[in-house]
This record gives sequence, structure tokens and C-alpha cells, in this order.
Amino acid sequence: MLAAVAERNAYTPALENFDSAADVLELSQDIRQMIKYPERILTVTLPVRMDNGHIRRFEGYRVQHSTARGPAKGGIRYHPNVTLDEVKALATWMTWKCSVVNIPFGGGKGGVTCNPKEMSQTELEHMTRRYTSAILPLIGPSQDIPAPDVYTNSQTMAWIMDTYSMTKGYTVQGVVTGKPLCLGGSLGRNEATGRGVFYTILSACEHLGLPIKGAKVVVQGFGNAGSIAAHLLDSHGCCVVGVSDSTGCIFNKSGLDIPKLILYKEQTGRVAGFDGSEPITAEQLLRLDCDILIPAALENVVHEENAADVKAKIVAEAANGPLTPDADRIIEARGGFIIPDILCNAGGVTVSYFEWVQDEQHLFWDAQDIYNRLEKVMKTAFNDVLKNHVDRKVGMRVAANMVGIGRVAEAIKIRGLYP
Ligand code: NAD
Repeated sequence: MLAAVAERNAYTPALENFDSAADVLELSQDIRQMIKYPERILTVTLPVRMDNGHIRRFEGYRVQHSTARGPAKGGIRYHPNVTLDEVKALATWMTWKCSVVNIPFGGGKGGVTCNPKEMSQTELEHMTRRYTSAILPLIGPSQDIPAPDVYTNSQTMAWIMDTYSMTKGYTVQGVVTGKPLCLGGSLGRNEATGRGVFYTILSACEHLGLPIKGAKVVVQGFGNAGSIAAHLLDSHGCCVVGVSDSTGCIFNKSGLDIPKLILYKEQTGRVAGFDGSEPITAEQLLRLDCDILIPAALENVVHEENAADVKAKIVAEAANGPLTPDADRIIEARGGFIIPDILCNAGGVTVSYFEWVQDEQHLFWDAQDIYNRLEKVMKTAFNDVLKNHVDRKVGMRVAANMVGIGRVAEAIKIRGLYP
């Protein structure tokens, strides 16, 4: 499975998606030249002393795709499959994503090619601090603000914030988001992506006239984003029938007990073997009869070879880039409704923005305030995208890219070309 993911290059679809939306927007070639490609790319070599006393070299990246509408914003991924092309694709999506939800950020992304599951906390801390010092010239609260992504978390952000602050000589909370609460983190950040996914699914159900109560849900990737979306859908009457993580896939046609499954995953680190479930394969999971499929793991999991098997009425992309362009065409051709990643999972960056605002003003909001603001942002963004989908008769991905790319193009046109 992971090998198949690695073989497909995520950057090609990112460029293809850009072109499709730019064509509908009738963007000039001049504007395309200015906004399509990353502004800055940094590759860093990270020598790290491992617990066995030897030095191991890791490769890391930080890509700033656009700062047209504000500082670059985007997570840092630790994974064996991280490549520069993947980071470029993710940085590109961040630009359109921040623009779709209309927050004043551009797009960036970082990553280190490593296997965090095989590293101790000490090794991870050393690697994170060395990576931070290597990308130091690029980051800062007004320049580029990293956040967690796959296999990085609030502890990783604390190390980055501390390393950056040590070099400055004073504490700079706004250099990263997704921090622990005691270091200027925001209430609601941990669940923001899953909550945002949930709000966009509610909007899609409303648009399609699909009752949320009793809707059958499948979640591929029961991590932060996937498990929280599953929990909110379950508590609003949905029936989550299938779930997977990197250790396996499970199924129960009458619905899995999601609160218990979350506890089980916390205790054991896996979903496989959960009481009241039967094991199925990854391909069977994607083929399950359901109303809503939430791919919430890695990119390119639904492609030309398996897209025709997906039966869901709504495919909600909690992950970044889980559907290839071929998969989009196949699913939309049979009437499936796609909530594209740059809209569906934008709740995370939206609450990251709220965190940065709170850090910068040294004034913190309560959780209900965060949820209300998030709901408003997500529902407004959904309606902006839906309007393009309906008025211009384009797929939801093109519609979302039209909103995202259109706002960046507008900003660049007004800023003009330097020098
Ligand atoms: P996470 O590490 O918490 O969870 C990832 C989950 O995917 C884990 O449960 C892992 O076991 C599972 N997984 C890995 N490989 C798998 C495979 N081959 N098959 C099935 N499951 C597999 O990460 P996350 O933060 O939930 O991020 C998941 C996706 O959502 C990523 O694409 C990420 O870029 C995207 N995303 C996350 C956020 C956020 O705020 N967390 C925001 C926007 C987008």
C-alpha cells in the first residue's frame, strides 16, 4: 500500500489541478507564471547523533509556494516517503487552501524523510532542533509559520518554538501553530481538522438532501483528522461501518462503537483486533457500501484502478490529495459528490490562523468561540465553492481551485510585479 503511494508523484496532479481551474478562470499566461510555482525551496542535510552514539544523516525540506496573500503557512511531515515533490505539492495546496477559507496566509510545507516510529524521543528532539536551525532563515511569525502534519505533533512544535526563541533571545509564540496550550496553543486546534471535515459534510448533506441521521460512513486513516470526524459524525447519528489505520482495516455492518474504538486505539496504538469488528483488506474498505467515504491518511489512495469500486455518494477528502485526477473523473462521472481537500480539511489551518492571531494579540478565546468562528468560516467557504460548482457547471475540485487560485491571482494583479 505505502509502496503504491510512493510510486505516484503528488506534484503532477497539483499542477494539473492548477491548469484546469486557471483555464476556467481564463487566467493570462503572465499571471500563471507568477503564481503556479513555489517561490522558495530549501533542501537541508541534518546530521543527528543517534542513541547508539553514531551520526545519521537525514534530508529535510521547507517549501514556500506563495506569500502573495500573507506569510507562508503549512505543516511539517515526518515520514519515510517524504520527497521534495511531495512537499512542493503540499505547499501548493496550502496556498489555495488558505485562500479558499479566505485567511490572510500563503502556502508552505516542510518535511523530513525519516521513520519516526523507529526513533526515540531524544532522537526526534535532536532531529527537530537541527531541522529548525537549518530552516531558520525562512521561518518567523511574519514570514512562514509551520504546524504539525503526519507524525509530528504539539511536542514537535514546542521544540521548534523553543529552538527559534533561543536563537532570538526572547520567546516567539507565533512562529508555529499547533503548540501545547501552555505555550500559546489554541483551544480547539487538536480537533479543528476533523471538526472542519464534519462541517463540510453537513453542508454537503444539506445540499444533496441526504439525511445525516443513519448515513453510513467509512474512514480510511483513523488518526487525528479521521477519528475526530468519525466521532462527530457518530455523535450526530451517522453509522460508521468501516475504519482503517496503518495496522489494518475493520468492519461492522451495524456500526462500530466509535468512542470505544478511540479509547482502544489510544491504548493499543491500532484499530485491528477491536471487539465487535471483523478484519477486511484495504481494497475491501474502499469498496464498502456507504454514503460517505473519508480518506484521511495519505495521498493517491483512490486512483484509476480502484475509483470505479467506490460507492460512496460523498467523498470527503480529510487527507491532502487522496484522489488522483483520474479518480475525480470516474467518481464525478457516476454522480459522486467530492468535497475537495483544500476545502474539506481547511479547518486545521483555520484554527491555526486563530492560534496565530491569539498569540500575536496575547489574548485567548474560549472553545465555543473557536467552534463558532470555525463553523462560520467553513460554511462560508463551502458556499463560495458550491456557487462556482453550480453556476459554472464544474466539478467541486475545479470550483474550489477557482476560488483559491482566483483570490491569489487577484492579489498578485493588484500587487504588481517587482522590480
Ligand atoms: P495522523 O498521523 O494523526 O493520522 C494518520 C493516520 O493514517 C494514522 O492513523 C495512520 O495509522 C493512518 N495510515 C497511515 N498509512 C495508512 C495506510 N496506508 N492505510 C490506512 N491508514 C493509514 O495524521 P493526521 O493529522 O490525521 O493527517 C492525516 C491526513 O490529513 C494527512 O494527509 C494530512 O496531510 C491531512 N491533514 C491533517 C491536518 C491536521 O491538522 N491534522 C490538517 C490538514 C490536512
